[in-house]
Amino acid sequence: MSLPDPVAEGVASGWRVLDGAAQTQDLQLTCDVLIIGTGAGGGMTAEVLAQAGLDVLMVEEGALRTSRDFRLLEAKAYPELYQESASRKTADKAINILQGRTVGGSTTVNWTSAFRTPPDTLNWWGERYGLKGLNPPAMAPWFDMAEARLGIADWQTDPNPNNSVLERGCQALGLKHGRIRRNVRGCWNLGYCGMGCATNAKQSMLVTTIPGALQHKAGLLSRARVERLLPAADGKSLLGAEGRLLAADGHSLNGRQFSIKARHVVLAAGAIGSPAILLRSELGGGQVGKRTFLHPVVISGAVMPQRIEPYNGAPQTVYSDHFMHTQPLDGPLGYKLEVPPVHPLLMGVTLSGFGQETTSLMQQLPHLNVMLALLRDGFHPDSQGGQVRLRKDGSPELDYPLNDVLWDGVRRSWLTMAELQFAAGARQVLVLHEQASLQSSWQATREQIMQLPLKPLLARVVSAHVMGGVAMSSQPEQGVVDEYGRHWQLRNLSVIDGSVFPTSIGANPQLSIYAFALRAAHQLRDALKA
Ligand SMILES: Cc1cc2nc3c(=O)[nH]c(=O)nc-3n(C[C@H](O)[C@H](O)[C@H](O)COP(=O)(O)OP(=O)(O)OC[C@H]3O[C@@H](n4cnc5c(N)ncnc54)[C@H](O)[C@@H]3O)c2cc1C
Repeated sequence: MSLPDPVAEGVASGWRVLDGAAQTQDLQLTCDVLIIGTGAGGGMTAEVLAQAGLDVLMVEEGALRTSRDFRLLEAKAYPELYQESASRKTADKAINILQGRTVGGSTTVNWTSAFRTPPDTLNWWGERYGLKGLNPPAMAPWFDMAEARLGIADWQTDPNPNNSVLERGCQALGLKHGRIRRNVRGCWNLGYCGMGCATNAKQSMLVTTIPGALQHKAGLLSRARVERLLPAADGKSLLGAEGRLLAADGHSLNGRQFSIKARHVVLAAGAIGSPAILLRSELGGGQVGKRTFLHPVVISGAVMPQRIEPYNGAPQTVYSDHFMHTQPLDGPLGYKLEVPPVHPLLMGVTLSGFGQETTSLMQQLPHLNVMLALLRDGFHPDSQGGQVRLRKDGSPELDYPLNDVLWDGVRRSWLTMAELQFAAGARQVLVLHEQASLQSSWQATREQIMQLPLKPLLARVVSAHVMGGVAMSSQPEQGVVDEYGRHWQLRNLSVIDGSVFPTSIGANPQLSIYAFALRAAHQLRDALKA
């Protein structure tokens, strides 16, 4: 059966789309607005500006892949759709980072959980960083607009067995919990969102705002890596940007370069990508790359008596914020509990240990429940996040030291997850740590968790939520951009993506980025049309 592929049909109908890999000459282009990166921030911005009649050009390092390319195969999806083939790591290799690298950015591969920015986070930004315009009532219309555009709504289908474990555990222990809203229309409940949505149900940027922009005569240049921004002679504005075109493998260079002149530049290459471009352009300023946050995630696996098939069904449909609210916002780190999709390849590389125990656990995959705790970083005084810096070849690297305040949260959240899993009927539980082993009772697991040494590379820590590094501030000396993403020094540069947040969000970030982007893009539209 062949499914409709509206993006491929749009390209065939004559959308202004260029593939960097196909170019045999250097490119010199001009536009009103150059948007670098096509993820949550770039996609939203592109549609608003193109609909206003501005000549928009989107440039994306990853390739344009569409639903017919999404084959539900991990071995194909990770190299094609993710930064560093889904193996991006922090400088000491202690945290594995998932980020998208394709048209649509991380939204093409994300797991569709949609939360508004928690009011306590927005209020904190107002109090601590002077970002008064982002208060909850002021942001509400932008959340409404993003939700309407992307079909964000309650998910009416029952949670899959993997998510039901979290729900049952919370019910048994009396913990607050709820169901997660999702950005889908007509979802088939397959569970392969992380490999690109084969049915175009996920309302990612790839199938919503990017087509919306292309239909309004925007252009898209894919497999094109922006190396640097080009400052004007006055030192107060930009001429545009330049970079290199990539070959068909998506990684090596095709030998051709591009330069783009623009009236306005929007940096939307994501946290890590946007600070890296500023640093390569030597337009950093002292704050760029600092305070990069991850929502560091730790994991607990449970062998359940019944079949769970954690690879089937919508991921992340149940959550608990109970432990977000048991401490002050700037106290010991709060954590959000969710249940990710579990596919064999990602599970294999995330599991600790090796040999017979690991083999036997992999064989029990159909019976595995996997729970995650997402730690809210950036609020406690000792939670300063990480710093993006450049390697010798100009590629970015995130140094994110793991410290005591974080380890304390890791241990508390492992304890919670293990208790929940046993309360939901688990036979055995294994927290993901090199020295942990499967335990058959809550008591034994608890004792083991209390003994485990907390050190980088022993505890498995992962992240799919990179935020910060180009922080908003109310004063130029305290950040890089203002609360509309406008650069404090360069008058025709905006940064509109997840890098602008001054702390982590404390909830899965896509909807926060969409709402921020809509607000910033409407302000920019009005300024450029004036
Ligand atoms: C596997 C996974 C699951 C997730 N699940 C959820 C979820 O369920 N709910 C949720 O809220 N969030 C989720 N997220 C996170 C969410 O998708 C991201 O926070 C969000 O997409 C970030 O938006 P952004 O615009 O900052 O960057 P991105 O969406 O990452 O887009 C940045 C784009 O810029 C491109 N780029 C980078 N450098 C350059 C360059 N030099 N030149 C040209 N282009 C460049 C990148 O290739 C990328 O396409 C998930 C992320 C992942 C990876």
